[in-house]
Formats: sequence, structure tokens, C-alpha cells
Amino acid sequence: MTLYVYNTLSRSKEEFVPLQGNTVRMYVCGPTVYDYPHIGNARSFAVFDTIRRYLEYKGYRVTFVTNITDIDDKMIARAREEGTTVRELAARFTEEYLRIARELNLKPATVNPRATEHIDDMIDMIQHIVDNGKAYVVDGDVYFDVAGHEQYGVLSRISKDELAAGARVEVDEKKRDPRDFALWKAEKPGEPSWESPWGRGRPGWHIECSAMGARFLGLPFDIHGGGQDLIFPHHENEIAQSSAAYNIDTPVKYWLHNGFLTIDKEKMSKSEGNFYTAREVLDRHDHQAVRLYLVSAHYRQPLDFNEAALEQAQHSLDRLRNAAELLRGRIRVLEKAGDRAKGSDRELKESVARLREGFERAMDDDFNTPSALAEIFTFVRDVNTLAPEVGSAGTLREALAALTEVVGVLGIDLSGGAQTVGAGAAALVEGLIGLLLEIREEARAAKDYATADRIRARLGELGVVVADTKDGPTWKIAR
Ligand code: AMP
Ligand code: ZN
Repeated sequence: MTLYVYNTLSRSKEEFVPLQGNTVRMYVCGPTVYDYPHIGNARSFAVFDTIRRYLEYKGYRVTFVTNITDIDDKMIARAREEGTTVRELAARFTEEYLRIARELNLKPATVNPRATEHIDDMIDMIQHIVDNGKAYVVDGDVYFDVAGHEQYGVLSRISKDELAAGARVEVDEKKRDPRDFALWKAEKPGEPSWESPWGRGRPGWHIECSAMGARFLGLPFDIHGGGQDLIFPHHENEIAQSSAAYNIDTPVKYWLHNGFLTIDKEKMSKSEGNFYTAREVLDRHDHQAVRLYLVSAHYRQPLDFNEAALEQAQHSLDRLRNAAELLRGRIRVLEKAGDRAKGSDRELKESVARLREGFERAMDDDFNTPSALAEIFTFVRDVNTLAPEVGSAGTLREALAALTEVVGVLGIDLSGGAQTVGAGAAALVEGLIGLLLEIREEARAAKDYATADRIRARLGELGVVVADTKDGPTWKIAR
């Protein structure tokens, strides 16, 4: 079936045809590692992970590059505020980002290039732009000449006149035209800097992504992703840089942009202060429920953040897990008993076929995850009614495999491994068990053995094994 994707460049859904055979080369703007990412940033990560997984589901070989911005204005400002180095700050929050990536079950990227490790690539690209007469040097700064680049505005569709009205020159900038933007910034005291043909300095933010994309994917490549806030100026500037450096009209074929995570209809953002960090949300909730929540809306639509939506995601996740458990339980029973042919398999087999077809139809329509989820839950209802009647373990295994595979595309792991709870939830469990054991000790001291035994028995039913030692009770979770 044909995949259609909404391309911001054409403002329309286009048939997806990779530039080269069966391979897809894809770049997604990654985090600036100056602080904890908020849950809105996490939406962008989860959305593009699902898009990548669906491309792989369809049989494409995907090279997935997502950068780590470890040098830019925000990094420098924050390091200064905290009295630390940019390098230390970057190390701390890169680790934090990678932990969040694991907890959200993001498939590891093919490469996670760090900007500071590719300064040479950036210098090289800037040199090409200068050589092509599309950039100029002033006192160690290098600026892109917007007026001289005819294509400028192709992505954002902002005209150069509108731009001129909106742009302003910062006090310390020396550009000729307020619309121009910095490719290279001359060294300032106390800032990290690198040698370059224009003197010591550091790259501008936009050139970082252009250079790392070109380095790892070559130009042109297939898909470039990021949040809608990046369309202008970041991605507009990326197109301008890559096309000016290498005389390529269309350095990226498809531009995909995710909608915002909002709070009370406002974009979640650090600067507005209306944000929750991904860390605090993951600490309070089942990681997989957070992941499901993040992909529950269509990726281009806004997604509002509230507790009810997270609870809803938890409920949906529980239904998925229960259906998988039901299937596993029935498979075990039938395997023990030997397949009984008397049950009917036909309906469940048909339902599996409908699931795959419906899921693919939804996802082929610009990755319509809410519609895909609706198909999945129709299937879950079928499983709940049909599985108890099915006669062959093979059919049940097919159903389990199909369910596991399609939810896997959404980043949900039903493989039956340990369920992940946030560190906060784990601490809470520990605290609650400790409290129950304290009450049990008090009951024993008061010779209320009935209460003491009941607490121990009930904990046992929940899989918590209590042992009394000479140093007091200890517990562990069986399984
Ligand atoms: P940053 O670390 O600020 O460069 O952002 C990382 C990614 O998160 C970028 O693709 C942003 O466009 C995206 N992003 C930022 N805020 C939001 C939001 N409220 N909702 C969804 N995506 C966002
Ligand atoms: Zn970028």
C-alpha cells in the first residue's frame, strides 16, 4: 500500500517515494542539552521514533540521525548562570536525554552526532557558502546573505519584505541586512571557541544541523523532522545553507513537523514557564503509558497535557496488556492440552487480517496514529470475546504476534518483560510496603496476630514475599 506524508514544503500530502531504492535517510532535530527536556520535546522525540518504526515496518532500511546540540547561545548562557563549563553541562544533560530516550522506548538512533564533534564539517560548509558568494565576513563573523539567495522563504513562505519588517539587528551584530543570520560567530571572552579561516569562534545553531545532516546522510536526503516552531527560521535557514553551499535546489525531499504539546491550549515552552519536565512526568507514571499518550494524537495536531489524558493512556495500555496476557494464557492452556480442533479459528484469523489492514491504512495516511489505535482497540475487543473459544494455539500466536508488532510501531512493548515503573513510582511502592510492615510489627507487638498474618498473606498474594529475620522483617518481590 502507498504511504502518503504531509510535506511542509508543498503544504500537501504527497506519495512517499525514497530518493534511493529501499533506503530512507532521515534527520530529526534533537535536543539542546542545557536543561531537562520538557514533555513537549519528548513528544517530538516519540513522534519521529514512531514514524521511523513505521517506515521500518513497511520494509524500508532507515538511517536515522538525530543530533545533540551541545554548543549554542542557550548552552553558553546556562553554563555561565550555573558557574560551570559548557562541556560539563552538555555531559550532564546528554546523559539525561539518553535516559529519557530509553524510558520512552525510542529506538537508538543510527548516529547521535554531537555538534562540538563536527566543527570541521561546519567550517567546511560555511567555506563553500562564502566561496559561492552567498555569505560575507565581518570582523570574524560570517553572515548568510539572505537577499542574495533567491529561494529564501520556500519552506516558511515568508516573503523577504515581511522578513525585513520583522527582523532587527542585535546590538553586537554587524550584519549588512537585518534579515541575514550568523553562520560563524567571532570568539567572545569566556566562550568556547575553535580555529577557523575567519579567526577563532563558534558555529551558529542553524549550520550545525545542515552540516551534520550532510555529513551523515549526504545531500539530498529523504526526510527532515522537527517541531513546527522550527519551520522558521531554523529549517528555512538549513535549506538556504545546504542549497547555497552545494548548489542543490532541494536538499531535503520531505519536511515533517510535529504539532505542539500544549497546556490549556498554550504551547508548552521553557521560556513561558508553562512546562513539565519529561523527567517528572516519567517519574510519576508508567513509562509506556507516557509513550502511548505522546502518540495518541495525530502528530501534526496539538496534544493537550493533563492528568486525565495520562490516565486514559494508562487505561488503554492496561487493556493492551490484558489482551496480550489473555492470549498468552490461552496459548499455554492449549499447548498443554494439545490443540483441540473443535474451537473456531476463522473469526479471530479474520480479525487479525482486519487489524493489519486497518492499521496500515491508518498509518499510510500520514501516520494517523489515533485512527491506528482505534483499529487496535477494535481488535482487542475481538480478542477478548473470541480468544476463549479459539481451538488452535497457532491462531492465538498469530494474533499475539500481530498485536505485538503493530503496538511496537507505536513504541509499546508487549513482549511480556518486566513492566517499567518510574523511579518515583518504585520509591512509592517501597514506602508503602515499608509502612505496611511497620503496622504489622505493631500488630504483632500488640499480639494482634490476625492482622499481622493478614498483612503478610495479602502482600504474598501481590507477589511481595515477607521474611522475618532477627533484624526485623525484610521483603522482596517474587517473579
Ligand atoms: P529543543 O531542545 O528546544 O531544540 O527542542 C527539541 C524538539 O522539541 C524540537 O524539535 C522542537 O521543535 C520540539 N518542541 C519544542 N517545544 C515543543 C512543544 N511544546 N510541543 C512539541 N514539540 C516541541
Ligand atoms: Zn536542527
